[in-house]
Amino acid sequence: MIWFDDRFVPESESKVSYLDRGYCFGDGVYEVFRVYAGQVYEGAAHYERLVRSAREIKLRLPYPLEEIERIVLELIERERLRDGSVYLQITRGVAPRAHSFPPADTQPVLLVYASPAKRRVESMRGGIAAITRPDERWLRCDIKSLNLLGSVLAKQEAEEAGADDVILHRDGIVTECSASNVMIVKDGVLLTHPANRLILHGVTRAVVLRLARELGIPAEERPFSLETLRRADEAFLTSTIMEVMPIVAIDGARVGDGAPGPVTRRLQQAYEATIPASALSGGGGQ
Ligand code: PMP
Repeated sequence: MIWFDDRFVPESESKVSYLDRGYCFGDGVYEVFRVYAGQVYEGAAHYERLVRSAREIKLRLPYPLEEIERIVLELIERERLRDGSVYLQITRGVAPRAHSFPPADTQPVLLVYASPAKRRVESMRGGIAAITRPDERWLRCDIKSLNLLGSVLAKQEAEEAGADDVILHRDGIVTECSASNVMIVKDGVLLTHPANRLILHGVTRAVVLRLARELGIPAEERPFSLETLRRADEAFLTSTIMEVMPIVAIDGARVGDGAPGPVTRRLQQAYEATIPASALSGGGGQ
């Protein structure tokens, strides 16, 4: 069962119009929520970002936010989702193809579906390998827009290079990954790109920065270079799906001693402490 265009329908019955502006232009915004033990994790922060993304592209929500929240909860219940994710997107609706906005009474189209997922425990323990690539996305990466071509192409390059992910840089300044934020540790200090227009303001990023503060780990939100990245003692990425994921190799060279570092471990443990215990112990499936 999914929510599509004003109602709950079986997946097989959802038909996207060829004139949907999400389909034609990527004209819309989205969110991915994590569900642990049947509960939405950091829901308020995700909804806040959804509202902000919609506002920034002048997109009207199809219903009041409370109604959207109700739909998400009902979907989780109907699907009996325990551990997994909920994908939500809103497009600017169906209208004859023209770049400018459609008539004001065009109804935005909401899609919501749930997927069970396991935590990537093995990668979280051992770390992943990343490559670096130029960040060729647009200049409003703070908006969670449906336009993901820059990320798609970068991630595909990682896959073809046999790496798990890609760290992006603009003119030598590290921004973020294709679908996550990136942080490094150098001489005990946590560094990550400031939350400006060049990166998505990750919900996990904010949680990790809060945890760092609580643990007394010095953290700075400031731009750093590719060179600094290569000299980092530790590196990790953060996202709703990957949580705190150690990066142990970059462009084929080891990060630090090639194993997840102590600061990364502390933050991973602190992050896990914010997750319901039943989701940690082999959670997954429906
Ligand atoms: N950056 C980008 C480009 C992303 O797509 C994501 C995933 N939403 C993130 C960062 C991480 O954000 P969050 O922690 O809210 O999942």
